[in-house]
Parts: sequence; structure tokens; C-alpha cells
Amino acid sequence: MKPPFLKAIDFSEEDFSNSNFLLELRIHVVEECNLKCVYCLSNAPFVGDKNEGNKTKLSLDEIKNNIKQARDLGIKVVSITGSGEPLLYKNLKELIEFIKSLNLRVVLFTNGLLLSKELVRWLNEKDVNLMVKLNSFNPEINDKLVGLKGAQKVFIEKTKMLVDVGFAKDKRMALNCIICEENYQEIPELFIFCRENGIIPWIEIVTITGRAKEEMKLPKEKIEILYKKLSEIDKKQFGYEWIPDSPIVGADRRRYKFVAQIDIFGNVYHTDANITDEVGNIRNKSLHDLITSEKFIKLRSKDKHSRNFLEKENSELAEKIYKILTNKKFRAGALPPEDIKKLVLEKIERKISKNLPIKLFQFWGGCKNPNLPTDNAELCEEATLENLQRISNEVAKIYSPGLKIFVSPGDGRVQNVNKIPKEKTGKYVQTLTEIAEKYNGLFSVIPLSMLYEKYSVDFQKHLSEARKNIEKDIYNQPEFEKLALNARKNVFGSDLESEEKILEKSKEAAKDYIIYRVAEEEAKIFRDFDDCIRSFFIKYIPFYKRYIKNIDETEPRLDCSLVFYTGRKGNITQPWQAIGKRKEDEVLFLSQNRLKLEMNRVKD
Ligand code: SF4
Repeated sequence: MKPPFLKAIDFSEEDFSNSNFLLELRIHVVEECNLKCVYCLSNAPFVGDKNEGNKTKLSLDEIKNNIKQARDLGIKVVSITGSGEPLLYKNLKELIEFIKSLNLRVVLFTNGLLLSKELVRWLNEKDVNLMVKLNSFNPEINDKLVGLKGAQKVFIEKTKMLVDVGFAKDKRMALNCIICEENYQEIPELFIFCRENGIIPWIEIVTITGRAKEEMKLPKEKIEILYKKLSEIDKKQFGYEWIPDSPIVGADRRRYKFVAQIDIFGNVYHTDANITDEVGNIRNKSLHDLITSEKFIKLRSKDKHSRNFLEKENSELAEKIYKILTNKKFRAGALPPEDIKKLVLEKIERKISKNLPIKLFQFWGGCKNPNLPTDNAELCEEATLENLQRISNEVAKIYSPGLKIFVSPGDGRVQNVNKIPKEKTGKYVQTLTEIAEKYNGLFSVIPLSMLYEKYSVDFQKHLSEARKNIEKDIYNQPEFEKLALNARKNVFGSDLESEEKILEKSKEAAKDYIIYRVAEEEAKIFRDFDDCIRSFFIKYIPFYKRYIKNIDETEPRLDCSLVFYTGRKGNITQPWQAIGKRKEDEVLFLSQNRLKLEMNRVKD
């Protein structure tokens, strides 16, 4: 189960997939603060010490106008925040009323010191979500970090007050705590305190900017150990599962793709992690233009929140994922050559930069081998998909979006090349789809016949051209004999006929297979899967390559392929050629020959 999150910003899958621009606007309303946190990333001046220079702060009307612009860009929530302490803002209540009148949700970031009973009641009535502060149960440590003696006692009082009014019960309250050397050991205790009281633990690493000095930063390894420990506590004690990849413990980092922030002077930023790097000023440009600017998009992709913060660079993560994909337990055949490796890494990195699943395209047989006693996908296919799921699980341990696997049964091809009736391929595709549906969206079954149909005009044209070219030349090719022998394995019903007929059929099938594969590439029927790593790619295999005219015009233009073992034990790459038999917790793959042996044994 996914952990709870602050209600106002707990965006749904629908929100993420429907949003084009923003889901959340963070707006600064004051510059000064009544605390002097040593880690304050906005370097908020203490009340009375401020020095604004000549800059003009945004008026309430300007702030309202900015919120309206953001509403038109699709936001669901406004977070009222610093640079300093928002409770010092004299127009706070009017601003909250205004946001509510637009039907938007409100999050108020506050250190909590100025929360009175009356104000808490009012905030509760307005359904505001609150982010308060507590860095340590030890008063000395807490007060040192926030720069005010006695602050910890007040924090605890205010936390209790909010819990009593019902903010925690409604998931409208989070406790903000930074992680540093001083409180490192007690973070698990703070985390458990939050969970036990229904408070959202907003525990995060220090952002080194403003007053936070480099010395406050803990080594990555130490943070990793802590986050893994918190993740284990959550799983064991509270039943929540999450991957430690966001700088905010247990948070869904996809949110950061849809946040913009406006400071008190109208400068626009991606998130608070980038407040030294504005993209422009709202007084000079519309919010739409600022957030669609190249700079904003670039900052967003670089932001530590938008990618796995424990990873240094996308390329480092891509290498790790590549290692999993090419691990001997999953890989069939030799390691890909360096140029293919480069292409695979590029594809992986492109997905990482957008925090999207890495896509694989797995070619698959179009029907159960007709010599087997079933037309349906069965245990072999299930065990095979399970094996592919295992690869995805391993990837998801270090990259939460994991994999997305397209399985493409070659039904259209075997109907034509191997003369398999549509009825049989239909049964196979249908039962394979049913099995694939059990894996929570990891697999999509894309029958080849569907692609033939989708691009039928192009495909038919290239098919007849390929037939003309290939037929007149193929039998003279020295490698053809070898291909025909390979095809012999797939000439179904071969055990029923004479050797001569089988050879004739094998040659025919080998030739048709080449014709179909060449036409598939030339008609670009895989163009929709350009961003996938393919399991088998013929375009650069010399034998096929010679028949593809204008190879540079085929799409995907550059491609890469990795071939995966698909059987549970890595013992078969073609589950459609066998039927499965359970042996304790293992699935045995029985090919036609082994099946015959088994059946004979039973008869004996
Ligand atoms: S971190 Fe927040 S509470 Fe602390 S000084 Fe800065 S604005 Fe004030």
C-alpha cells in the first residue's frame, strides 16, 4: 500500500496523466521570519532586520492575479510559503478566502509559533492543510537548529493542538524536519511518532542554499542507509511501501514536475530547490510563457526532486539498469556490442530524464506450436511473463518507474508464413492477453496482425515489392540453406510428411519469413515503438540488410536490441514452442520431443 500524503497535494494518477502544465503553485507572501533556522534555504531575515533594497514586493492584487493565471494552467492547489513566515502576512486570511473562492486547495507552510487557538479553528473551517515544524525531540538540538530558545516546547504544544482539532486525522497536517548530523539518530523515532499520530512525516535532506552551509550535508551513503531503514519501518510496522528515491521521505516525486514557485518580488522558479535560479519575472511575462520557457523545462529536468536524488547522474543510473537488463540470468546470447550498448543506454537515459518507465519490445511467437496438444497460452507463457516481471522488479528497486513491456505475438506473420489458421492464432493471442492482464499493466500485448492492419496500405505495397526482389535472388544466397534448416524447426506438422516435402516447406517458410520481416521494416510498422529497446532486430543483420532498400529511411532509424531469456530457468526463449508442467515451485518447459518422451513413459 502506498503511504498517505498531505491531502491537498496527494495527486491522483489521473491528475498526473491529465496535467499539461502545473498542479501546484507555491507563492511567497513575506520575506521575514520570527525564527533564525541555521538551514534556512531562503536566508529569511529576522523580523525587523530586513533589507529590501529597491525591490517592490507583489501586492495582494498581483498575487491574486498570479493565482488566477495558475488556475487557468490547471493547478489544484496553492501552497502559501516563505521566503519567511506566512503567519506574519497581514492579508493571509483574505488570501486564503480568495484561493478557496477559486475552488483550489490550500497548503500553509508555517513554523507554527504564531498559531493561536482562534486561528487554528479558522484554518480548520477553511480546510487548510498545514506544514509545521519539529526537528528534534531534544529541546537543545531543536532550538539550536531553529535559532530560538524555547521553540521546541512551543512546536510540541502547537502540534498537539492541531492533532486535537483533527488536522492529523484528515491527513491535513505534515511535520517538517530536516536531516542533519545533530538529529540523524533520532529520525526513525520522529518518523514513527508521525505515523502513529496520523501526521505526514515531511522529513527531508537539507538543500544547500541560503543559510545552509555545505558542512550540513550528510554523505549520500549515510542518507541512503537512513531512507532504507525508514522504508523498512514503514513496510513492517505500518504496511506502507515506497522506494527511497525522493529527497522527501516516502514522497511521490512526480509532483515536482508540476510545481512552479513565485517569490515575493515576482521571480518565478521551478521549485524551492532552485530559488537562486529564476526563469524570469511575472511582471514582465505571463506565467504560461515562463513555465513553458526552455530554461524552466531544463531546470525542472535537472531538479533533485525530479529524479532519484540518491543517484549522481542519469548516466550512472542508466548503467546500473543496463547491467540488470544484461545480467546473465536474463540475457540470451552474447553481450551486445559497444555501439548497441550505447544506443540502449541513450534510450534508458532519455526515459530517466523524464522519470518514465523504460520500454522493452519483446517479439513473441504467433501461436502455440500446432504439434502441441493445445492452442492456448498456458503455464509456459505465464512462467515466461513472470520471468520478465522479475527483470522489472529488479529495475524498480533502483528506478521506481520500472519497465513497461510490449509483447508482440507474430500472429499475422505465422498465418502467412506457416499457414496457421486465424482461429488458432486468435485463441493464442486471446489467452496470452488474459495472462498478461494479471500483471498490473506491466505488459501490453500488441498482436502483429494489428500493426499489419494499421499500416496495411504501406505494408501491402512493401510486401509485394519485397516478394519480387527476394524471390528472384534468394535461392542463390549461400546462407539460405542454413536459414531453411532453421525454419525446419518451425514447419509445423513436419513429422507427418516426407523429408522431401518438409525441406520444400522449410525453404518456402524461410523465404516468406524474410519477405515479411523486410516488408515490416520497410513499411515502418514498428514506428510507434521508437522509444523501446527491442528484443530482436533484423535491420542490421547482414543477410536481411541486403534486401532492405533505403535502410536509413526505415523507422525506428537507429535501434538497439537485447534478447532476453524468457523461461523461468533461462532454458527457453520461445515459450510458444513448449507446454509447461509444474514440478514443485518450478515450471518445466516440455518441447515437442520431451513431451513425446513423457507421453511414451506414461503409456509404458
Ligand atoms: S526555515 Fe522557515 S522557519 Fe526557519 S528561518 Fe527560514 S523561513 Fe523561518
